[in-house]
Amino acid sequence: MALSLPGDFLPYFDSWEKKIGAFIEYRYGKSPEDTGVPESSGGGVPESEPLPGEASALIKGLPFAVKDNIAVKGFSLSCGSKLLEKLRSPYTATAVQKLERAGGRVIGKTNLDEFGMGSSTDSSALKQTNNPWDQSRVAGGSSGGSAAAVAAGLVPYALGSDTGGSVRCPASFCGVLGLKPTYGAISRYGLVAYASSLEGIGLVADTTPRCRAVFAAMRGGDPMDQTSRDAPPSAPPLYGSAAGSAAGRKVIGVLPAETIAKAIAAAAAQEAGAGDAAEGKALEAAAAAAELEEEIRKGFETAKERLSGLGHTLVDVDVPSLKYGVPAYYTIATAEASANLARFDSIRYGRRPDWAENPDDLIDKAREAGFGAEVKLRILLGTFVLRSGFQDRYYLRAQRIRVGIRRNFELYLGTPESTENGGEAAPGGRLCDAILMPVFPTRAFGRGEAGLPPFAQKAADLYTCCANLAGLPALAFPVGVEGGLPVGVQLLARAFSEGTLLDIVEQYEAKYPFPHPEGYKAFWRG
Ligand code: GLN
Repeated sequence: MALSLPGDFLPYFDSWEKKIGAFIEYRYGKSPEDTGVPESSGGGVPESEPLPGEASALIKGLPFAVKDNIAVKGFSLSCGSKLLEKLRSPYTATAVQKLERAGGRVIGKTNLDEFGMGSSTDSSALKQTNNPWDQSRVAGGSSGGSAAAVAAGLVPYALGSDTGGSVRCPASFCGVLGLKPTYGAISRYGLVAYASSLEGIGLVADTTPRCRAVFAAMRGGDPMDQTSRDAPPSAPPLYGSAAGSAAGRKVIGVLPAETIAKAIAAAAAQEAGAGDAAEGKALEAAAAAAELEEEIRKGFETAKERLSGLGHTLVDVDVPSLKYGVPAYYTIATAEASANLARFDSIRYGRRPDWAENPDDLIDKAREAGFGAEVKLRILLGTFVLRSGFQDRYYLRAQRIRVGIRRNFELYLGTPESTENGGEAAPGGRLCDAILMPVFPTRAFGRGEAGLPPFAQKAADLYTCCANLAGLPALAFPVGVEGGLPVGVQLLARAFSEGTLLDIVEQYEAKYPFPHPEGYKAFWRG
Protein backbone atom coordinates (compact mmCIF):
# COMPACT_ATOMS: atom_id res chain seq x y z
CA MET A 1 0.00 0.00 0.00
CA ALA A 2 1.43 3.36 -0.99
CA LEU A 3 1.50 6.13 1.54
CA SER A 4 -0.72 9.03 0.79
CA LEU A 5 0.97 12.08 2.18
CA PRO A 6 -0.66 15.50 2.22
CA GLY A 7 0.85 17.84 -0.39
CA ASP A 8 2.41 20.18 2.14
CA PHE A 9 4.02 17.39 4.17
CA LEU A 10 7.34 16.99 2.33
CA PRO A 11 8.42 20.64 2.68
CA TYR A 12 7.37 20.46 6.35
CA PHE A 13 9.46 17.31 6.79
CA ASP A 14 12.51 18.81 5.08
CA SER A 15 12.49 22.00 7.07
CA TRP A 16 12.24 20.16 10.42
CA GLU A 17 14.74 17.46 9.54
CA LYS A 18 17.31 20.11 8.56
CA LYS A 19 16.99 21.59 12.04
CA ILE A 20 16.82 18.45 14.18
CA GLY A 21 18.68 15.71 12.27
CA ALA A 22 16.52 12.86 13.55
CA PHE A 23 17.20 10.43 10.69
CA ILE A 24 20.26 8.49 9.63
CA GLU A 25 18.39 7.55 6.47
CA TYR A 26 14.88 8.26 5.17
CA ARG A 27 12.80 7.56 2.10
CA TYR A 28 10.11 10.20 2.21
CA GLY A 29 9.88 11.54 -1.30
CA LYS A 30 12.65 9.28 -2.54
CA SER A 31 11.03 6.30 -4.25
CA PRO A 32 7.83 5.93 -6.29
CA GLU A 33 5.93 4.82 -3.23
CA ASP A 34 7.94 6.99 -0.85
CA THR A 35 8.55 3.94 1.32
CA GLY A 36 10.64 0.87 1.80
CA VAL A 37 9.36 -2.40 0.42
CA PRO A 38 7.92 -4.54 3.20
CA GLU A 39 9.50 -7.94 3.53
CA SER A 40 7.24 -10.71 2.29
CA SER A 41 8.20 -12.98 5.11
CA GLY A 42 5.62 -15.67 4.66
CA GLY A 43 4.63 -17.78 7.62
CA GLY A 44 7.64 -17.32 9.96
CA VAL A 45 6.32 -14.43 11.99
CA PRO A 46 3.54 -15.18 14.49
CA GLU A 47 0.16 -13.56 14.02
CA SER A 48 -0.60 -10.43 16.04
CA GLU A 49 -3.79 -10.20 18.02
CA PRO A 50 -6.61 -8.70 15.94
CA LEU A 51 -7.00 -4.98 16.59
CA PRO A 52 -10.36 -3.24 16.85
CA GLY A 53 -11.09 -1.25 13.67
CA GLU A 54 -10.41 2.18 15.14
CA ALA A 55 -7.07 0.94 16.52
CA SER A 56 -5.96 -0.56 13.25
CA ALA A 57 -6.64 2.78 11.54
CA LEU A 58 -3.92 4.26 13.78
CA ILE A 59 -1.31 2.11 11.99
CA LYS A 60 -2.68 1.25 8.55
CA GLY A 61 -1.33 3.27 5.65
CA LEU A 62 0.77 5.41 7.97
CA PRO A 63 4.56 5.78 8.07
CA PHE A 64 6.78 4.96 11.02
CA ALA A 65 10.46 5.26 11.82
CA VAL A 66 12.78 2.70 13.33
CA LYS A 67 15.86 3.23 15.50
CA ASP A 68 18.95 2.29 13.55
CA ASN A 69 19.79 -0.67 15.79
CA ILE A 70 16.65 -2.56 14.70
CA ALA A 71 16.83 -4.52 11.45
CA VAL A 72 14.71 -3.52 8.45
CA LYS A 73 15.61 -5.28 5.20
CA GLY A 74 17.35 -3.01 2.69
CA PHE A 75 17.78 -0.17 5.18
CA SER A 76 20.87 0.85 7.08
CA LEU A 77 21.69 -0.89 10.41
CA SER A 78 24.51 1.34 11.55
CA CYS A 79 23.77 1.31 15.30
CA GLY A 80 25.17 4.85 15.20
CA SER A 81 28.64 3.35 14.75
CA LYS A 82 31.37 4.00 12.21
CA LEU A 83 32.08 0.29 12.25
CA LEU A 84 28.65 -0.53 10.75
CA GLU A 85 28.12 2.67 8.78
CA LYS A 86 27.86 0.86 5.45
CA LEU A 87 25.86 -2.16 6.64
CA ARG A 88 22.52 -2.84 4.95
CA SER A 89 20.25 -5.19 6.81
CA PRO A 90 19.50 -8.48 5.04
CA TYR A 91 16.39 -9.15 7.15
CA THR A 92 13.61 -7.48 9.14
CA ALA A 93 12.95 -7.63 12.89
CA THR A 94 9.84 -9.51 13.97
CA ALA A 95 8.31 -6.39 15.59
CA VAL A 96 8.71 -4.43 12.36
CA GLN A 97 7.30 -7.26 10.25
CA LYS A 98 4.23 -7.35 12.47
CA LEU A 99 3.69 -3.62 11.99
CA GLU A 100 4.17 -3.94 8.25
CA ARG A 101 1.59 -6.67 8.23
CA ALA A 102 -0.78 -4.30 10.07
CA GLY A 103 -0.30 -1.82 7.20
CA GLY A 104 2.48 0.37 8.63
CA ARG A 105 5.37 1.47 6.38
CA VAL A 106 8.94 2.11 7.48
CA ILE A 107 10.11 5.42 6.10
CA GLY A 108 13.45 5.75 7.80
CA LYS A 109 16.05 4.84 10.39
CA THR A 110 16.68 7.16 13.30
CA ASN A 111 19.81 8.35 15.04
CA LEU A 112 21.01 6.92 18.35
CA ASP A 113 23.94 6.91 20.74
CA GLU A 114 26.38 4.30 19.40
CA PHE A 115 24.91 0.84 20.17
CA GLY A 116 22.39 2.52 22.48
CA MET A 117 25.03 3.67 24.96
CA GLY A 118 24.16 7.13 26.19
CA SER A 119 21.44 9.62 27.08
CA SER A 120 21.87 12.36 24.50
CA THR A 121 22.41 10.92 20.98
CA ASP A 122 25.69 12.81 21.05
CA SER A 123 27.70 9.60 21.21
CA SER A 124 26.42 8.70 17.76
CA ALA A 125 29.43 8.53 15.45
CA LEU A 126 27.27 9.58 12.51
CA LYS A 127 25.35 12.73 13.40
CA GLN A 128 23.90 14.95 16.08
CA THR A 129 20.17 15.12 16.83
CA ASN A 130 18.75 18.35 18.23
CA ASN A 131 15.74 18.78 20.44
CA PRO A 132 12.69 20.11 18.54
CA TRP A 133 11.86 22.38 21.51
CA ASP A 134 15.28 24.03 21.57
CA GLN A 135 17.79 23.09 18.95
CA SER A 136 20.76 23.98 21.12
CA ARG A 137 19.81 21.08 23.40
CA VAL A 138 20.02 17.32 23.06
CA ALA A 139 17.04 15.17 22.15
CA GLY A 140 17.93 12.66 24.88
CA GLY A 141 19.03 9.13 24.28
CA SER A 142 19.74 6.73 23.19
CA SER A 143 16.57 6.66 21.01
CA GLY A 144 16.84 10.45 20.49
CA GLY A 145 16.20 10.37 16.75
CA SER A 146 12.94 8.46 17.23
CA ALA A 147 11.69 10.82 19.96
CA ALA A 148 12.66 13.98 18.04
CA ALA A 149 10.96 12.68 14.86
CA VAL A 150 7.69 12.03 16.70
CA ALA A 151 7.83 15.31 18.66
CA ALA A 152 8.25 17.28 15.43
CA GLY A 153 5.35 15.41 13.83
CA LEU A 154 7.52 13.75 11.16
CA VAL A 155 6.04 10.33 11.95
CA PRO A 156 3.12 9.38 14.22
CA TYR A 157 5.25 6.82 16.08
CA ALA A 158 8.74 5.36 16.03
CA LEU A 159 10.44 2.29 17.44
CA GLY A 160 13.29 2.52 19.91
CA SER A 161 15.04 0.19 22.30
CA ASP A 162 15.22 0.54 26.06
CA THR A 163 18.06 -1.10 27.98
CA GLY A 164 18.27 1.39 30.83
CA GLY A 165 15.92 4.19 29.83
CA SER A 166 16.67 4.81 26.16
CA VAL A 167 13.04 5.19 25.13
CA ARG A 168 11.79 7.02 28.22
CA CYS A 169 14.61 9.57 28.57
CA PRO A 170 14.33 11.01 25.02
CA ALA A 171 10.52 10.77 25.15
CA SER A 172 10.47 13.00 28.20
CA PHE A 173 13.15 15.37 26.80
CA CYS A 174 11.02 15.82 23.66
CA GLY A 175 7.54 15.83 25.22
CA VAL A 176 6.13 12.59 23.77
CA LEU A 177 5.03 9.19 25.07
CA GLY A 178 7.67 6.50 25.57
CA LEU A 179 6.77 2.89 26.35
CA LYS A 180 9.26 0.36 27.67
CA PRO A 181 7.35 -2.93 27.66
CA THR A 182 7.74 -5.87 30.05
CA TYR A 183 10.90 -7.87 29.38
CA GLY A 184 10.02 -10.43 26.72
CA ALA A 185 6.66 -8.91 25.76
CA ILE A 186 8.02 -7.99 22.30
CA SER A 187 10.42 -10.18 20.36
CA ARG A 188 14.02 -8.96 20.33
CA TYR A 189 14.69 -10.77 17.05
CA GLY A 190 16.30 -8.15 14.84
CA LEU A 191 17.37 -5.83 17.67
CA VAL A 192 21.15 -5.52 17.78
CA ALA A 193 22.09 -6.65 21.27
CA TYR A 194 23.68 -4.32 23.80
CA ALA A 195 22.65 -5.89 27.15
CA SER A 196 20.34 -8.76 26.35
CA SER A 197 18.93 -9.45 29.81
CA LEU A 198 17.84 -5.83 30.30
CA GLU A 199 16.58 -4.64 26.97
CA GLY A 200 13.65 -4.74 24.66
CA ILE A 201 12.08 -2.93 21.74
CA GLY A 202 9.93 -0.03 22.87
CA LEU A 203 8.18 2.82 21.16
CA VAL A 204 7.66 6.53 21.09
CA ALA A 205 4.20 7.74 20.07
CA ASP A 206 2.19 10.92 19.67
CA THR A 207 -0.95 9.74 21.49
CA THR A 208 -1.93 7.02 23.98
CA PRO A 209 -4.41 5.27 21.63
CA ARG A 210 -1.64 5.05 19.04
CA CYS A 211 0.83 3.73 21.60
CA ARG A 212 -1.68 1.06 22.62
CA ALA A 213 -2.39 -0.02 19.03
CA VAL A 214 1.28 -0.23 18.06
CA PHE A 215 2.18 -2.17 21.20
CA ALA A 216 -0.75 -4.55 20.63
CA ALA A 217 0.39 -5.14 17.05
CA MET A 218 3.98 -5.91 18.05
CA ARG A 219 3.66 -7.93 21.23
CA GLY A 220 3.63 -11.71 21.68
CA GLY A 221 5.97 -14.67 21.79
CA ASP A 222 8.21 -15.41 18.81
CA PRO A 223 10.01 -18.70 18.11
CA MET A 224 12.98 -16.59 16.95
CA ASP A 225 13.45 -15.18 20.47
CA GLN A 226 13.33 -17.71 23.27
CA THR A 227 12.97 -14.99 25.90
CA SER A 228 9.77 -13.64 24.34
CA ARG A 229 6.33 -14.78 25.42
CA ASP A 230 2.64 -14.07 25.18
CA ALA A 231 1.02 -12.13 28.01
CA PRO A 232 -0.35 -14.52 30.66
CA PRO A 233 -4.15 -14.85 30.91
CA SER A 234 -4.13 -12.88 34.18
CA ALA A 235 -2.71 -9.77 32.44
CA PRO A 236 -5.14 -6.86 32.08
CA PRO A 237 -6.49 -6.67 28.52
CA LEU A 238 -5.25 -3.97 26.15
CA TYR A 239 -8.74 -3.43 24.82
CA GLY A 240 -12.11 -3.53 26.51
CA SER A 241 -11.12 -2.53 30.04
CA ALA A 242 -12.88 -0.02 32.23
CA ALA A 243 -10.55 2.98 31.84
CA GLY A 244 -12.09 6.22 32.95
CA SER A 245 -14.92 4.56 34.87
CA ALA A 246 -15.01 4.00 38.63
CA ALA A 247 -13.44 0.58 38.03
CA GLY A 248 -10.65 2.44 36.25
CA ARG A 249 -9.59 4.21 39.46
CA LYS A 250 -6.22 2.90 40.57
CA VAL A 251 -3.92 2.83 43.54
CA ILE A 252 -0.74 4.59 42.48
CA GLY A 253 2.38 4.33 44.60
CA VAL A 254 4.54 7.44 44.58
CA LEU A 255 8.27 7.09 44.89
CA PRO A 256 9.54 10.48 46.05
CA ALA A 257 12.88 11.32 44.48
CA GLU A 258 14.19 12.79 47.75
CA THR A 259 13.94 9.39 49.39
CA ILE A 260 16.25 7.84 46.83
CA ALA A 261 18.74 10.71 46.83
CA LYS A 262 18.83 10.52 50.66
CA ALA A 263 19.33 6.76 50.59
CA ILE A 264 22.27 7.15 48.22
CA ALA A 265 23.79 9.86 50.41
CA ALA A 266 23.42 7.58 53.46
CA ALA A 267 25.11 4.74 51.55
CA ALA A 268 27.92 7.17 50.64
CA ALA A 269 28.48 8.00 54.30
CA GLN A 270 28.41 4.32 55.20
CA GLU A 271 31.00 3.35 52.56
CA ALA A 272 33.23 6.26 53.54
CA GLY A 273 32.85 5.26 57.21
CA ALA A 274 33.79 1.68 56.32
CA GLY A 275 37.05 2.99 54.87
CA ASP A 276 36.15 2.83 51.19
CA ALA A 277 36.73 6.49 50.42
CA ALA A 278 36.59 6.10 46.62
CA GLU A 279 33.27 4.28 46.69
CA GLY A 280 31.91 6.82 49.20
CA LYS A 281 32.94 9.71 46.96
CA ALA A 282 31.35 8.16 43.90
CA LEU A 283 28.10 7.59 45.77
CA GLU A 284 28.17 11.16 47.05
CA ALA A 285 28.44 12.47 43.49
CA ALA A 286 25.68 10.08 42.45
CA ALA A 287 23.40 11.42 45.20
CA ALA A 288 23.96 14.95 43.92
CA ALA A 289 23.18 13.88 40.34
CA ALA A 290 19.96 12.20 41.45
CA GLU A 291 18.57 15.46 42.87
CA LEU A 292 15.70 16.73 40.77
CA GLU A 293 15.96 20.02 38.92
CA GLU A 294 13.38 22.52 40.22
CA GLU A 295 11.27 22.34 37.03
CA ILE A 296 11.20 18.54 37.17
CA ARG A 297 10.10 18.66 40.80
CA LYS A 298 7.29 21.02 39.80
CA GLY A 299 6.19 18.76 36.98
CA PHE A 300 6.22 15.75 39.29
CA GLU A 301 3.96 17.56 41.78
CA THR A 302 1.61 18.54 38.95
CA ALA A 303 1.39 14.89 37.88
CA LYS A 304 0.52 13.85 41.43
CA GLU A 305 -2.21 16.47 41.78
CA ARG A 306 -3.75 15.64 38.42
CA LEU A 307 -3.69 11.89 38.95
CA SER A 308 -5.34 12.26 42.29
CA GLY A 309 -7.84 14.71 40.75
CA LEU A 310 -8.72 12.00 38.24
CA GLY A 311 -9.83 9.78 41.10
CA HIS A 312 -6.76 7.64 41.68
CA THR A 313 -5.52 6.99 45.22
CA LEU A 314 -1.90 7.99 45.79
CA VAL A 315 0.22 6.30 48.47
CA ASP A 316 3.91 6.76 49.29
CA VAL A 317 6.17 3.80 48.61
CA ASP A 318 9.87 3.21 49.18
CA VAL A 319 12.20 0.98 47.20
CA PRO A 320 15.34 1.09 49.35
CA SER A 321 17.44 -1.18 47.13
CA LEU A 322 17.21 1.41 44.36
CA LYS A 323 20.15 3.27 45.82
CA TYR A 324 22.41 0.68 44.20
CA GLY A 325 20.43 0.64 40.94
CA VAL A 326 22.92 2.54 38.82
CA PRO A 327 26.05 0.59 39.86
CA ALA A 328 24.13 -2.67 39.39
CA TYR A 329 22.85 -1.54 35.99
CA TYR A 330 26.27 -0.47 34.71
CA THR A 331 27.93 -3.64 36.00
CA ILE A 332 25.43 -5.94 34.29
CA ALA A 333 25.01 -3.83 31.15
CA THR A 334 28.74 -3.48 30.50
CA ALA A 335 29.41 -7.15 31.26
CA GLU A 336 26.80 -8.15 28.68
CA ALA A 337 27.96 -5.48 26.23
CA SER A 338 31.54 -6.75 26.33
CA ALA A 339 30.26 -10.19 25.28
CA ASN A 340 27.64 -9.00 22.78
CA LEU A 341 29.96 -6.60 20.98
CA ALA A 342 32.65 -9.26 20.55
CA ARG A 343 30.89 -10.27 17.32
CA PHE A 344 31.91 -7.04 15.61
CA ASP A 345 35.22 -8.26 14.31
CA SER A 346 34.94 -6.84 10.76
CA ILE A 347 35.22 -10.37 9.38
CA ARG A 348 31.53 -11.20 9.12
CA TYR A 349 30.42 -7.59 9.05
CA GLY A 350 31.84 -4.18 9.75
CA ARG A 351 34.35 -1.91 8.10
CA ARG A 352 37.76 -3.47 7.52
CA PRO A 353 41.11 -1.74 7.75
CA ASP A 354 43.01 -1.38 4.45
CA TRP A 355 45.79 -3.58 5.61
CA ALA A 356 46.48 -6.01 8.46
CA GLU A 357 49.32 -8.30 9.45
CA ASN A 358 47.13 -11.26 10.44
CA PRO A 359 43.51 -11.93 11.58
CA ASP A 360 44.13 -10.71 15.15
CA ASP A 361 45.65 -7.52 13.85
CA LEU A 362 42.68 -7.09 11.48
CA ILE A 363 40.21 -7.34 14.36
CA ASP A 364 42.26 -4.99 16.56
CA LYS A 365 42.53 -2.36 13.86
CA ALA A 366 38.86 -2.59 12.88
CA ARG A 367 37.65 -2.22 16.48
CA GLU A 368 40.16 0.49 17.29
CA ALA A 369 39.02 2.61 14.34
CA GLY A 370 35.34 1.57 14.36
CA PHE A 371 34.22 1.96 17.98
CA GLY A 372 33.83 5.33 19.68
CA ALA A 373 35.16 6.27 23.11
CA GLU A 374 31.97 5.44 25.06
CA VAL A 375 31.73 1.97 23.53
CA LYS A 376 35.39 1.24 24.28
CA LEU A 377 34.93 2.44 27.84
CA ARG A 378 32.00 0.09 28.37
CA ILE A 379 33.74 -2.91 26.82
CA LEU A 380 36.70 -2.29 29.12
CA LEU A 381 34.45 -1.93 32.14
CA GLY A 382 32.58 -5.09 31.19
CA THR A 383 35.73 -7.18 30.85
CA PHE A 384 36.97 -5.68 34.12
CA VAL A 385 33.92 -6.71 36.12
CA LEU A 386 33.99 -10.19 34.59
CA ARG A 387 37.71 -10.88 34.94
CA SER A 388 38.58 -14.14 36.53
CA GLY A 389 38.54 -14.22 40.32
CA PHE A 390 36.52 -11.00 40.59
CA GLN A 391 33.03 -11.99 39.48
CA ASP A 392 31.91 -12.27 43.07
CA ARG A 393 33.00 -8.75 43.86
CA TYR A 394 31.15 -7.07 40.99
CA TYR A 395 28.99 -9.13 38.68
CA LEU A 396 27.40 -11.51 41.19
CA ARG A 397 26.90 -8.69 43.66
CA ALA A 398 25.11 -6.70 40.97
CA GLN A 399 22.90 -9.70 40.23
CA ARG A 400 21.96 -9.93 43.90
CA ILE A 401 21.07 -6.24 43.96
CA ARG A 402 18.99 -6.80 40.84
CA VAL A 403 16.97 -9.52 42.56
CA GLY A 404 16.53 -7.22 45.58
CA ILE A 405 15.16 -4.42 43.38
CA ARG A 406 12.73 -6.78 41.67
CA ARG A 407 11.48 -8.13 45.00
CA ASN A 408 11.09 -4.60 46.33
CA PHE A 409 8.86 -3.66 43.41
CA GLU A 410 6.93 -6.91 43.66
CA LEU A 411 6.14 -6.14 47.26
CA TYR A 412 4.08 -3.19 46.05
CA LEU A 413 2.99 -4.37 42.63
CA GLY A 414 2.68 -8.12 43.01
CA THR A 415 3.45 -10.42 40.10
CA PRO A 416 1.09 -11.61 37.38
CA GLU A 417 0.84 -14.90 39.32
CA SER A 418 0.38 -13.42 42.79
CA THR A 419 -2.41 -11.13 41.63
CA GLU A 420 -4.09 -14.08 40.05
CA ASN A 421 -4.05 -15.88 43.38
CA GLY A 422 -5.26 -12.93 45.35
CA GLY A 423 -1.67 -11.91 46.10
CA GLU A 424 -0.11 -10.60 49.23
CA ALA A 425 -0.99 -7.05 50.10
CA ALA A 426 1.73 -4.43 50.22
CA PRO A 427 2.28 -2.47 53.42
CA GLY A 428 -0.59 -0.07 53.84
CA GLY A 429 -3.30 -2.24 52.36
CA ARG A 430 -3.79 -3.46 48.85
CA LEU A 431 -1.30 -3.81 46.04
CA CYS A 432 -0.49 -0.78 43.92
CA ASP A 433 -1.60 -0.84 40.30
CA ALA A 434 1.26 1.41 39.28
CA ILE A 435 4.18 3.36 40.69
CA LEU A 436 4.84 6.98 39.73
CA MET A 437 8.47 8.06 39.37
CA PRO A 438 10.51 10.80 37.74
CA VAL A 439 12.13 9.85 34.42
CA PHE A 440 15.32 11.90 34.48
CA PRO A 441 16.46 14.46 37.06
CA THR A 442 16.83 17.22 34.46
CA ARG A 443 15.02 18.46 31.37
CA ALA A 444 16.82 18.26 28.01
CA PHE A 445 20.34 19.50 28.65
CA GLY A 446 22.58 21.58 26.41
CA ARG A 447 25.98 20.90 24.95
CA GLY A 448 29.50 21.90 25.96
CA GLU A 449 29.39 24.13 29.03
CA ALA A 450 25.62 23.72 29.29
CA GLY A 451 25.89 19.95 29.08
CA LEU A 452 25.72 17.29 31.78
CA PRO A 453 29.10 15.72 32.70
CA PRO A 454 29.43 12.03 31.67
CA PHE A 455 29.37 10.74 35.26
CA ALA A 456 26.22 12.72 36.09
CA GLN A 457 24.57 11.43 32.90
CA LYS A 458 25.13 7.86 34.04
CA ALA A 459 24.04 8.54 37.62
CA ALA A 460 20.88 10.12 36.18
CA ASP A 461 19.82 6.72 34.79
CA LEU A 462 18.73 5.89 38.34
CA TYR A 463 15.03 6.45 37.75
CA THR A 464 14.84 4.59 34.47
CA CYS A 465 17.23 1.65 34.84
CA CYS A 466 15.28 0.03 37.69
CA ALA A 467 12.40 -0.97 35.36
CA ASN A 468 14.98 -2.78 33.21
CA LEU A 469 16.64 -4.46 36.18
CA ALA A 470 13.22 -5.64 37.37
CA GLY A 471 11.90 -6.47 33.87
CA LEU A 472 8.79 -4.32 34.45
CA PRO A 473 6.83 -2.21 31.97
CA ALA A 474 7.10 1.57 32.24
CA LEU A 475 5.35 4.35 30.37
CA ALA A 476 6.78 7.87 30.28
CA PHE A 477 4.39 10.69 29.43
CA PRO A 478 4.61 14.49 29.28
CA VAL A 479 3.00 16.46 32.09
CA GLY A 480 3.74 19.92 30.82
CA VAL A 481 6.28 22.48 29.79
CA GLU A 482 8.47 24.25 32.34
CA GLY A 483 10.76 27.07 31.22
CA GLY A 484 10.11 26.24 27.56
CA LEU A 485 11.06 22.56 27.84
CA PRO A 486 8.89 19.50 28.33
CA VAL A 487 8.80 17.59 31.62
CA GLY A 488 7.90 13.93 31.72
CA VAL A 489 7.08 11.42 34.46
CA GLN A 490 6.74 7.65 34.29
CA LEU A 491 4.48 4.96 35.64
CA LEU A 492 5.69 1.41 36.29
CA ALA A 493 3.42 -1.60 36.65
CA ARG A 494 3.61 -5.31 37.32
CA ALA A 495 4.88 -7.51 34.53
CA PHE A 496 2.54 -7.68 31.51
CA SER A 497 0.32 -4.88 32.87
CA GLU A 498 0.95 -2.44 30.02
CA GLY A 499 -2.85 -2.26 29.73
CA THR A 500 -3.08 -0.65 33.18
CA LEU A 501 -0.43 1.96 32.32
CA LEU A 502 -2.10 2.80 29.02
CA ASP A 503 -5.51 3.10 30.72
CA ILE A 504 -4.22 5.56 33.30
CA VAL A 505 -2.36 7.67 30.75
CA GLU A 506 -5.16 7.61 28.17
CA GLN A 507 -7.55 8.96 30.77
CA TYR A 508 -4.93 11.57 31.74
CA GLU A 509 -4.33 12.63 28.13
CA ALA A 510 -8.07 13.06 27.50
CA LYS A 511 -8.09 15.77 30.17
CA TYR A 512 -4.55 17.13 29.76
CA PRO A 513 -3.52 16.91 26.08
CA PHE A 514 0.19 16.52 25.37
CA PRO A 515 2.17 19.65 24.42
CA HIS A 516 3.82 20.33 21.04
CA PRO A 517 6.84 22.44 20.08
CA GLU A 518 6.40 25.64 18.12
CA GLY A 519 5.92 24.97 14.42
CA TYR A 520 4.36 21.52 14.97
CA LYS A 521 1.58 20.52 12.62
CA ALA A 522 -0.63 17.50 13.15
CA PHE A 523 -0.57 15.40 9.98
CA TRP A 524 -1.58 12.05 11.42
CA ARG A 525 -5.11 11.09 12.25
CA GLY A 526 -5.90 9.77 15.69
N1 GLN B 1 21.50 5.90 29.47
C1 GLN B 1 21.52 4.47 29.36
C2 GLN B 1 22.91 4.00 29.01
O1 GLN B 1 23.66 4.82 28.62
C3 GLN B 1 20.51 4.07 28.35
C4 GLN B 1 20.80 2.80 27.64
C5 GLN B 1 19.68 2.24 26.84
O2 GLN B 1 18.56 2.15 27.33
N2 GLN B 1 20.01 1.74 25.65
O3 GLN B 1 23.24 2.87 29.13
